[in-house]
Amino acid sequence: MNMRNELFIDGKWAPAARGGMLEVFNPADGKAFHAIAAASAEDVDRAVIAARRAFDDGVWPRMSGRERAHYLRRIAEVIRGRLPAIAELEVRDNGKPRAEAEWDIGDAAYTFEYYASLAEKFDEERSEAIALPDQRFKTRVVREPVGVVGAIIPWNYPLLMAAWKVAPALAAGCTVVLKPAESTSLTALELAAISEEVDLPPGVLNVVTGLGPDVGQPLVDHPLVDKLAFTGSGAVGSRIMAAAAKDIKRVSLELGGKSPFIVFEDSEIDKAVEWVMFGIFWNQGQVCSATSRVLVHEQIYHKFLERLTAEARKITIGDGLKKGVLLGPLVSDLQHQRVTAAVEKAVAEGATVVTGGGRPKELETGYFFEPTILTDVPLTSSAWTDEIFGPVVCVRPFSSEKDAVALANDTRFGLAAAVMTRDAGRAERVAAALRAGTVWINCSQPSFIEAPWGGYKQSGIGRELGRWGFENYLETKQVTAYVSDDPWGWYIKH
Ligand code: NAD
Repeated sequence: MNMRNELFIDGKWAPAARGGMLEVFNPADGKAFHAIAAASAEDVDRAVIAARRAFDDGVWPRMSGRERAHYLRRIAEVIRGRLPAIAELEVRDNGKPRAEAEWDIGDAAYTFEYYASLAEKFDEERSEAIALPDQRFKTRVVREPVGVVGAIIPWNYPLLMAAWKVAPALAAGCTVVLKPAESTSLTALELAAISEEVDLPPGVLNVVTGLGPDVGQPLVDHPLVDKLAFTGSGAVGSRIMAAAAKDIKRVSLELGGKSPFIVFEDSEIDKAVEWVMFGIFWNQGQVCSATSRVLVHEQIYHKFLERLTAEARKITIGDGLKKGVLLGPLVSDLQHQRVTAAVEKAVAEGATVVTGGGRPKELETGYFFEPTILTDVPLTSSAWTDEIFGPVVCVRPFSSEKDAVALANDTRFGLAAAVMTRDAGRAERVAAALRAGTVWINCSQPSFIEAPWGGYKQSGIGRELGRWGFENYLETKQVTAYVSDDPWGWYIKH
């Protein structure tokens, strides 16, 4: 597979206008193995103008949903056909274990297939007659694509995050300028290459690589963009929302979290440990919905902690391309520094490191970080309140359901929450009390392309995935006709 290094604008590959390049590092050894174009505002302007033209004058928004679905299905087919190679590229770029990357790439293909099926249904559903009490009028509601979408994504699920935005936007008839994360742009460029292979009309999907302030910011500020779809940190999300307010752009935000996992005393310890580990060590804990605050009933707290610690120590850490590896490196040197600093700060604030806490001794190069369990974390410590985005979990005992729910909800975030209990009534009660966009009962992390995904409180605005994700890319138009033969007669009497 050809690793791309140029920008994809208006159906053509071109270097950045100012010729800038960014090195691409393999997180498993810290060595540069490629370079990509570092774009600037001029490139963003060209991409937005191309997307605008493709929307205003092109065929894409004017096709039937069925015709658009054909392209989406072709994209999915090519992704599936090349799945092992794309997954390997994702591992080299992002660091995640190969099996996880294969899961992501399969999911990305499925996202295109799923939105192809919604595009097909859209032909029947896009226009709906509304019953009115006044028979002199006939009104229908028409759903139309929102226009040019600026999509900005993070590095933790590079191709999957691109698919979550590009697939519904294209299905709805929008055109897109996609800005991948600077540290993981390779599979987004591959998606551009695939769109070229399936003859997606020029300008419908544009991919512009580079740094956030140089590419993301001009995209956010561009007056010809109608909608911004962002996944990333709260700090950048907040800036994007403020910038969007200037010209009332539509905006959807998927931001961070500090999600709780409540483990009640009737839980089977082995099952609880398994899901808690999945909730924090999958993808090296670089998951927005990672259940990073684990609340365990005091009756089973010590037994649970002992078992969790023993299992965390058994995890095989290494290069994601090696067989049997379950925890790869963090995505970048910067992320490694951030996670290291967060754990050091937690300890300074009173936390105890039960296991892990830094770089594994046997792995001297690469951005590896051990599975880490913290206890005694003060409720005011940033390790308890702020996202770490690494394989670091805080575990704390609780004594009653009421306390557990109060602790779980005591956060500015609300992306996800999990509860483990064999008591179905309690599970439902707690699920209703938790303030989060997703609540998992007796599991943590599964997400489905059919179901809505997004956060309460500072975890974001709007929902991706499912039909909710499709709605993000639609406008609603009312078309009302006066159908009576009688004159209206307000000013001019007959
Ligand atoms: P980030 O906010 O630093 O970067 C995200 C993207 O925004 C990148 O493409 C970056 O280049 C771009 N960007 C940076 N500055 C910008 C600016 N001024 N204007 C426009 N764009 C700019 O986040 P990150 O470090 O890449 O990702 C980690 C964060 O993403 C975590 O906080 C995590 O919780 C969040 N996240 C959320 C979800 C979700 O579904 N809710 C999913 C994945 C990641």
